Amino acid sequence: MIELNRRHLLAGVAAVGAASVARLGTTPAHAAVPQAGTQAPGFYRYKVGSYECTSINDGARTFPMPDKFVANVAKEEALAAADAAYMPKGMVTIPFNPQLINTGSKLVLIDSGNGIGNFEPSKGAVGRTLQNLAAAGVDPKSIDIVLLSHLHPDHTNGIRAADGSIAFPNAEIMVPAVDWAFWASEENASKAPNDMMKNYFANVKKTFGGIESKVTKYEWGKEVAPGITSIATPGHTPGHTSFAVASGGSTVLVQSDVTNIPELFLRNPDWHVAFDVDGPKAQETRHKFYDMAAAEKATVVGFHFTFPSVGHVEKDGAKYRLIPSAWNPTI
Ligand SMILES: [Zn+2]
Repeated sequence: MIELNRRHLLAGVAAVGAASVARLGTTPAHAAVPQAGTQAPGFYRYKVGSYECTSINDGARTFPMPDKFVANVAKEEALAAADAAYMPKGMVTIPFNPQLINTGSKLVLIDSGNGIGNFEPSKGAVGRTLQNLAAAGVDPKSIDIVLLSHLHPDHTNGIRAADGSIAFPNAEIMVPAVDWAFWASEENASKAPNDMMKNYFANVKKTFGGIESKVTKYEWGKEVAPGITSIATPGHTPGHTSFAVASGGSTVLVQSDVTNIPELFLRNPDWHVAFDVDGPKAQETRHKFYDMAAAEKATVVGFHFTFPSVGHVEKDGAKYRLIPSAWNPTI
């Protein structure tokens, strides 16, 4: 009889190991096939009406939690939430997931990931969008539109390949007009309150320098690509935008950064992530967005949700809860 207590379980594993070696006589068991040593490609397909969507994993960053990662609570509280989500001790993990939407007439990439070399040394942990697009059989030259939700580096820098060239040479690059006005302003840049903000302003200059003519500014509440409508969700940045992707009576909400990682900021919607330009505004937006998504039982896709980053959001008292969608082997 197997008793499921910790002592028996651990002892049991050792005993089973010894027994299987003993059964094989003098030859210890060994794997005949070399281990892969690398992660599998990260892409996941789902349908929205007649549209075929693909969640493309750009990777994930794990780093020691900075002191003010959650700007408005004590670090111990933030660490406890990360610990409760089984993140490595003292660390925080942030995944990145651009979305590819094939409408049948247009191929649209929503956000572009970190690019390569943005967070050195990354050891390949981020900037995986191009390789995962290739794994999904997608030629970057075939992408018609790169639709950016806001102008933070983890969303924009993938528009450049490692050599600095444009990774999607035939794509129109669409940016929220409000964010462009904010981040491209020399006056705003000169008033940047801290190094993080200074870096963000500099990054916009570097990433979009010389390609301003390829950039189209879009407004909120508009169909910015076939079946894709921009939704005003400001706060995280002034022009931060989410999208409704609709086809044949089905809709998904691509929330972008309405929350950063859900384990902290969807569970605790009043927490402000360090990267917010306007924390209180982002908090207000978050409640509005999730109250609507929960009432509609809408499918929500989150750039910083765990891959494949598709799920539903429910109200849970004053908090929210994410129910990830089950992996669907057919589409
Ligand atoms: Zn982000």
